[in-house]
Amino acid sequence: TRSRFFSSQPQPDRKNVNIGTIGHVDHGKTTLTAAITKYLHKKGLAKYVPYGEIDKAPEEKARGITINACHVGYSTERRTYAHTDCPGHADYIKNMISGASQMDGAVLVVAATDGQMPQTREHLLLAKQVGVSKIIVYINKTDLVDAEVLELVELEIRELLEDFGFDGAHCPLIFGSALEALEGQDTERGTKSIQKLLDALDSYIPYPERDCKSPFMLPIDNTFSVSGRGTVVVGTLTRGTLKKNAEAELLGFDLSLKTTVSDIQAFKQSLPEVRAGDHVGALVRNVKLKDIKRGMVLCAPKSLKLSNRFKASIYFLTKGEGGRSKPIANKYCQQLFSQTWTVPCRIDLDDDVTMLMPGEYGNVKLTLLWKMVMSPGQQFTVRENNFTVATGIVTETMP
Ligand code: GDP
Ligand code: MG
Repeated sequence: TRSRFFSSQPQPDRKNVNIGTIGHVDHGKTTLTAAITKYLHKKGLAKYVPYGEIDKAPEEKARGITINACHVGYSTERRTYAHTDCPGHADYIKNMISGASQMDGAVLVVAATDGQMPQTREHLLLAKQVGVSKIIVYINKTDLVDAEVLELVELEIRELLEDFGFDGAHCPLIFGSALEALEGQDTERGTKSIQKLLDALDSYIPYPERDCKSPFMLPIDNTFSVSGRGTVVVGTLTRGTLKKNAEAELLGFDLSLKTTVSDIQAFKQSLPEVRAGDHVGALVRNVKLKDIKRGMVLCAPKSLKLSNRFKASIYFLTKGEGGRSKPIANKYCQQLFSQTWTVPCRIDLDDDVTMLMPGEYGNVKLTLLWKMVMSPGQQFTVRENNFTVATGIVTETMP
C-alpha cells in the first residue's frame, strides 16, 4: 500500500567504522587481525579471535555470490570497528567488486621480505575503484629483515600508493611484526606496533557520515499519482539534502525532464527538507506519470549525466557459485541490474583479452541500450535467465 512508502523510520547513523586488511597472500593479514584482537582483549576492548578461527571464516552469500570473509569487532578508547579479513585473493576481489563490505579505510599489509607483489597492486586498484580513499600501511615481518631494507620498502610502497592515486606521501606507515605481537611480545615491533596502528586508525580514517552536502540524488523505486495533486516519485535519498520547491531533473531511459519538487513526504508527514538516508516521496510538478518510471533518478539540475557507455571492473561467478560454465566472449549481451533498474547491455572485453573464464575478473566496457545515470563506484550485477552470473563496479563514465 502507499502508506508503506512513507513509513520507514529515520536510519540511525552507522556507529561502526568499517575497515579491513588487504594485501598479498601470506604477508600476514590474518596474523595481524588476530594480534589486534588479542591485544585489545587484554584491555577488555575485544573478544580474542584466534588465527584459526579467522581463517576458517564461514561462507556468506552477498548479492548472490559466495564470499568467505571473517568480520571481527573491536573497540579502541575512541570508537568501534568492524574489521573484515578474507582468506583468499578471490574473496577479496568478490568482496570489493560486489560491495559486500563497504570499507571506510583499509590496512595494507606488506611483508618487508617481499615488498609489493601482484595482489598488493590488485587490491589497491580495487580499493581505489570502490572508493576507499584512506589507506594505512603496516609493513610486516620486520623481524626478518635489516633496517636498510625497511627504508627501501617504505619508499617503494609510498610511491606505489601515489601511483594508484592515494596520499602515499602522508599516509601513516607502521613497521611491525604481527607474529611477535600475537605472541604478546611487548616490543616496538610487537604489541607497540599494534597500538600505533590503532592510533593511526582512530586519527586517519574518517568517521562515516551521511553525505548531506553534495547535490541531492534520489534513485526512484516507485512512482504513483495522487489525484488532484500530481505525480509522486519514491526512493531513498542517497546523498545531499532535498528542499521543498527545489529545481530538479529526472534522468534515465534516454530521457531528461525538468521539474520542481513541490512537496516532500517522509515519516508520514510533509517536510520542508529531507537528508541523505531518508526514504521519501517527492511530488514533482509538470510531469506525467507515464513519462517516468522506476530506475530513473531525481537529482539536482546538471549534477549528473546520462550516458550509455561506461568502463567497469567485473567478476564472473564460477559454476559452483551459480554462474556460467562457459567462458565469456567479446560482445556478450545480457541484462544489467543496478540500483532500481534493469537494462539490456553489451559487454566488450579489453582489446588484448579474447575471453574471460568463470571465476576471473577483468576490465570491460559496457554499452547500455538506453542512457542511464551511473557513477564511478556504482555496483551492478549481470543476470542470465534471472541467475546472477557476474558482479561489477563502474570505474568511469564515457561520453
Ligand atoms: P595472510 O595470507 O596475509 O593472511 O598471511 P598469514 O597471516 O596467514 O601469515 C602467513 C605466514 O606468515 C604465517 O605462517 C605467519 O605465521 C607468518 N607471519 C605473519 N606475520 C609474521 C611476522 O611478523 N613475522 C614472521 N616471521 N612471520 C610472520
Ligand atoms: Mg589470511
